[in-house]
Amino acid sequence: MSVRHNSSPLTRQVTLTVLTLAAFALVIVAGFGFYAAAQSDEASLERQKIFIADGLKDRIAEVQREQESVTVWDDSVTNVRAGNQAWIEENLSTWMYTYYGHNRVYVLDAANHAIHAMWEGKVVEASAFGADEPELRPTIDKLRHLLAAPPKADASGQPAKMVAQDLVSLQGKPAILSIMPLVPSSDRVTQAPGTEYLHVSVEFINDTVIGKIAAKYLLEGARLVPLSQPVGAAAVPLVDSHGVILGYVGWDQEQPGLTLMRKMAPALTLALLVAGGVLVFLLHRLRRTSAALQTSQDQAQYLAFHDTLTGLPNRALFEDRLRRTLLFAGQDGTRVALLYLDLDRFKHINDTLGHPAGDELVRQTAARLKQTIREVDTVARLGGDEFAIILLDIPDAVSAEDIAERLLSKLRESFRLIDDQVFVSASIGIALSSGSDSDADDLLRKADIALYEAKKNGRGRYEVFAGDMDDLLLRKRKVESELRKALDGEGGIKLAYQPVFAADGRRILGAEALIRWGHEVHGALPVAQFIAIAEERGLIGELGKWVLSEACRFAVGTELPWIAVNISPMQLRDVGFAEDVAGILRETGLDPSRLQLETTEGVLIEHNETIGTAIATLRQSGVRIVLDDFGTGYSSLSYLRRHAIDKLKLDRSFVRLLDEDQSARAIAKTLIELALALNVEVTAEGVETDMQKALLVGMGCQQLQGYLLSPPLEPGQLLALPGVSSADRERSAVRA
Ligand code: C2E
Ligand code: MG
Ligand code: MG
Repeated sequence: MSVRHNSSPLTRQVTLTVLTLAAFALVIVAGFGFYAAAQSDEASLERQKIFIADGLKDRIAEVQREQESVTVWDDSVTNVRAGNQAWIEENLSTWMYTYYGHNRVYVLDAANHAIHAMWEGKVVEASAFGADEPELRPTIDKLRHLLAAPPKADASGQPAKMVAQDLVSLQGKPAILSIMPLVPSSDRVTQAPGTEYLHVSVEFINDTVIGKIAAKYLLEGARLVPLSQPVGAAAVPLVDSHGVILGYVGWDQEQPGLTLMRKMAPALTLALLVAGGVLVFLLHRLRRTSAALQTSQDQAQYLAFHDTLTGLPNRALFEDRLRRTLLFAGQDGTRVALLYLDLDRFKHINDTLGHPAGDELVRQTAARLKQTIREVDTVARLGGDEFAIILLDIPDAVSAEDIAERLLSKLRESFRLIDDQVFVSASIGIALSSGSDSDADDLLRKADIALYEAKKNGRGRYEVFAGDMDDLLLRKRKVESELRKALDGEGGIKLAYQPVFAADGRRILGAEALIRWGHEVHGALPVAQFIAIAEERGLIGELGKWVLSEACRFAVGTELPWIAVNISPMQLRDVGFAEDVAGILRETGLDPSRLQLETTEGVLIEHNETIGTAIATLRQSGVRIVLDDFGTGYSSLSYLRRHAIDKLKLDRSFVRLLDEDQSARAIAKTLIELALALNVEVTAEGVETDMQKALLVGMGCQQLQGYLLSPPLEPGQLLALPGVSSADRERSAVRA
């Protein structure tokens, strides 16, 4: 059996759902991770910006404090007034450069004229101030205003600081500008308002300055980004008091979220892999489970339509296929042959070799049948040892017969069953569809009748359903019902009597009762066929008893030394037979010694105990046993002694040979001599010629029966013969 393991729709649906959910979960987790990282990075960036801005503010305040250390000083005021350039250089300009890193310093008089200038630690011409003046002017003016109208002291009582600061851009370079007046630190030096000298400090916001600020907050890559360069997210603008952007402080953005993500990536990947693995495993399990489910479903389906012993289609599937096949065949105008096959004597093998051997035989038979037919044909097991075969596209009966013959010869080959080698045969019934209008039931019935016919005709053969088989069956049914009516006393059957003569051909020794079918319609039916139907339909017992009592009743009223009645083998197999005979003899009053029972030799070679006992019982009571039709069957002489036969009747086919066949004569002579030697009487039947009669008498045969002497007669005709009717006296007495 082959079962496809395609995933079921359910499995696919579940797999899809799970995968979708997993993908969804993955997207959510990853999305959330990135979102959290981005959020944290953004918050961190804001913080970094605040750090830088604060750092810058701190630096500006620091520049002022550094300046304050020299501007509030008596010496500064006096030396500046005195124009002491050396002192100024040492204490107010180069000092500021070397000690604090202020890049440019200018000292201005009350009219804002530069009296001293220092650039990068070197004293330069005071006129250098001109280059920077435009940028410095607003802040200078701001301080002058402040000095002219100093603000009130603040809440803490401290006088307001006299300072003006701003961010400026000098020659394109942003810088911190801080301006303070030079004021005395004591009362020893006085200074009139409006006469103050100013100290101007410029510190460029370069990478060194920025680096110091960034180092405090552990930010890396901090640098000045001039306006000419592109600026990233991690940047703080340098804005002057008028809101003009002079440049940016940029740095390498610290991204803790991203960093965390990067650090966690391997662990996360591993976790995802594990989760994915578990998912794959679970899905695989699901598929397997579902495949197993599908398999068992397929198996159940398979079992419902197949025979477990052979694996062949069972009756249900077979009938379904037959119907379909016939439908298609009808459409394309082809014919279908249906073969019914039955093993002969299967029961016998089962009984003697056991059921396992029987099963094995069925299995092997199935295999051989399958081998022999084509792939497109169907062989099914209908039960027990019955098989049915559907053959497609069969043009005529001969083609079907060929296949049947092939099947039969294949089955005739020996079978090896467990320990035994056996030979079996089979019978086949064939029915062909008619083409356009074949009905499955009709075909099944016909194949069945043909099989029955094959069995009846000797087994080990096939039979094609013929139209008249149907008629035969109908006729059989009719005969059966007529026979039942007759036995119920409605008439229709009667007996004829054929006398048996002594060698002189005149003296009547006895007579044989032969049944006659008196029915008008079925009158033509041969006696043998009529008896066969009675046997088949289980009516032979009743019919036999009727014949027996009819014959005995007749014989009682005659002078006949004996009356012979034919007995079917089936009757002899019946356990109560001897008793029935005794009963009839009592009823009719016929002396047992006047009754002879004729049966065929087939029965005698059966070694059947029931038959043996019946024969012995009957002989003991005085009834004589006659072996009928000797020479047609096995013609075995052994049972002549074994069963102590009283008489044998040479069959008429044998008698007929005497006329021309020398060897037949020799055999007949030996036979007769042997029988007589064993004390067995011999009757020759079917004697039709004088020559036959003369030869038989010459061989020692004392009893003759046949048309030459007399055909079977009506009772009245027989009574009219001399020797039978010589007892008129007695008959008169009986009548009286
Ligand atoms: P059988 O017992 O051998 O009977 C002799 C048959 O040979 C009879 O045929 C008879 O008519 C026929 N016959 C007699 N002389 C000649 C002859 O010279 N030439 C030819 N050609 N035939 C001759 P019938 O009556 O048709 O019976 C046929 C068989 O049917 C009998 O063969 C017997 O076996 C069986 N039978 C007849 N009546 C009964 C019966 O009541 N019960 C049973 N069980 N079988 C019966
Ligand atoms: Mg007979
Ligand atoms: Mg006979």
